[in-house]
Amino acid sequence: MVKHLISLCKNTIFHKKTSMANKKQNKKDNKSVVNSKSLEFLESYINNPSPTSYEWSGQRMWLDYINPYVDETFVDHYGTAVGVVNPDAPYKVVIEAHADEISWYVNYITKEGLIYVIRNGGSDHQIAPSKKVHIHTEKGIVDGVFGWPAIHTRSGEKEEGPTLKNIFIDCGCTSKEEVEELGIHVGSVVTYQDEFMVLNDRYYVGRALDNRVGGFMIAEVARLLKDNKKKLPFGLYIVNAVQEEVGLRGAEMITEKIKPNVAIVTDVTHDTQTPMINKITQGDLSCGKGPVLSYAPAVQINLNKLLFEVAKNNDIPFQRQASSRFTGTDTDAFAYSNGGVPSALISLPLRYMHTTVEMVHKEDVDNVILLIYNALLNIKDGQDFRTFNQ
Ligand SMILES: [Zn+2]
Repeated sequence: MVKHLISLCKNTIFHKKTSMANKKQNKKDNKSVVNSKSLEFLESYINNPSPTSYEWSGQRMWLDYINPYVDETFVDHYGTAVGVVNPDAPYKVVIEAHADEISWYVNYITKEGLIYVIRNGGSDHQIAPSKKVHIHTEKGIVDGVFGWPAIHTRSGEKEEGPTLKNIFIDCGCTSKEEVEELGIHVGSVVTYQDEFMVLNDRYYVGRALDNRVGGFMIAEVARLLKDNKKKLPFGLYIVNAVQEEVGLRGAEMITEKIKPNVAIVTDVTHDTQTPMINKITQGDLSCGKGPVLSYAPAVQINLNKLLFEVAKNNDIPFQRQASSRFTGTDTDAFAYSNGGVPSALISLPLRYMHTTVEMVHKEDVDNVILLIYNALLNIKDGQDFRTFNQ
């Protein structure tokens, strides 16, 4: 009896707990911006390879996703994809992220059939050993691995770290001819196989969240505008630019084509809370504490003020970052184009940049989306940022 009673009690408590957890989850679902359908898109978008200058398939997925939320779309010669709301409006506001993923180029194939690589973007030689890769060829995707000498066979006294000169890919071939028969040649592009996951229901983890999560966030802004039936008084250009990782090239091209009046760029920045990062030089930024607003010459001061006001008025948490000279993001490309375009940067804190386990906080993703969305609702048609707030 007692036992039974206890177990009944346990059950009751258990049910109570579950329903509380459900309530909490429902509350969270109502509050969170990213819904299950958008999360599904994020996962497949991140798992799809999008190496710099080969962004096409990712761009196609992205355009399919935003298509219902915009009036028209176009793609430029190098693959930058744009969704437009109010295409006839003369005053043009850009929200922008970059679509490309860092990768490797095949550079040299040995007669024994091993492959040496060079960077396509800032790929990190230190993380390469023992990674599985995809080599992209006209015959399809070929599997490979970055090999590495066993701990037993390395010189214990003088260990050599991985460098571009000693990392190599093994795709199971014994000669250069066998490698070539698979369709691999100098210039073939190599990406990692690592896939998306959600960590502790708190973080999105994956390769090249930098900055495809940005493309996702601006697409979610378009979705929110449509879902909430918001009409903007200006033309909105939602830009997923190519080739950022090799020097902001896609943004440089598309800003000349669009000739925007305002540009709000989103990219990732470093969370500095993990070991071996110096806060004195890198600042004090955390995942989970909100979007990061920047102070930098390219960031137009009155547009930036608008972002701070919008964050404060909408209870969106934010952090501050300073950049000397350059932001190192597409913000610079927009700001210094077309005789000067008022531009600002909203960054998403990220751990382990340019590794295959880049981490961003779910709440930060929601808050970046909300900050861009609310900023758009506060920009007026024809707004002159020279006189704003004076
Ligand atoms: Zn990057």
